[in-house]
Amino acid sequence: MDTLLGIVEAFVNFVYPPTCMTCWRDLKRGEAFICMKCWDSFERVSPTEAIIQAIERKFLIDETVDKIDAVFLFEQDPGVRTAVHLLKYGGAEKIADRFGILIAGKIVGDPKLSMCDMLAPVPLHPARKRERGYNQSELIAERLSGELGIRHEPDLLRRVRQTQSQTMFDAEGRRRNIAGAFSIAERFTSEVKGKKILLIDDVITTGSTIKECAGVLRNNGASEVYGAAAAVTI
Ligand SMILES: [Zn+2]
Repeated sequence: MDTLLGIVEAFVNFVYPPTCMTCWRDLKRGEAFICMKCWDSFERVSPTEAIIQAIERKFLIDETVDKIDAVFLFEQDPGVRTAVHLLKYGGAEKIADRFGILIAGKIVGDPKLSMCDMLAPVPLHPARKRERGYNQSELIAERLSGELGIRHEPDLLRRVRQTQSQTMFDAEGRRRNIAGAFSIAERFTSEVKGKKILLIDDVITTGSTIKECAGVLRNNGASEVYGAAAAVTI
């Protein structure tokens, strides 16, 4: 069956060569959905004073999360939005792999983020995960874990309550919508004490989701909680 699918795919690729979803040039061998030129051109979170301050003001001021980093700016670049969209609808593994590699490259020299004890994705509600078939943040975390050699615990946190889509709310609405949505898996309650934990999300928008997750980990004794994402809105 795999071979047959392979032959069909090769034929389809021959007749209709796959094109980049953001610039529509033909993809080269080894590229998937988005060409390397586009990946290289996407708007990055560069460590300028203005960006560092914007991240501190928006996400770190209440000290629930100790440090946040991301690779791309979400709002500023339609190509980044396309990549994130593909992550949820169609290109999950290939796009998640690329994001995992890029996050690893960004944080590998960071003494905090790259030296944590374990990393964990922001969880989806089980019903949502079943519907989609996977948790995109978990796929990113899996690749990142392999790149950095940090333990990955995909079941560390659980989403215990279904929430409405965060896109419907402003910052305060998002905070209320997500409050109490997460809990720690019982077998980790003693294990997270004194640990440094890196939370992984696809996009950090207002920070309310990652802060809610971080709060649960802190309440269970985690010493430091960081966040890393493919993209961020600042
Ligand atoms: Zn392209």
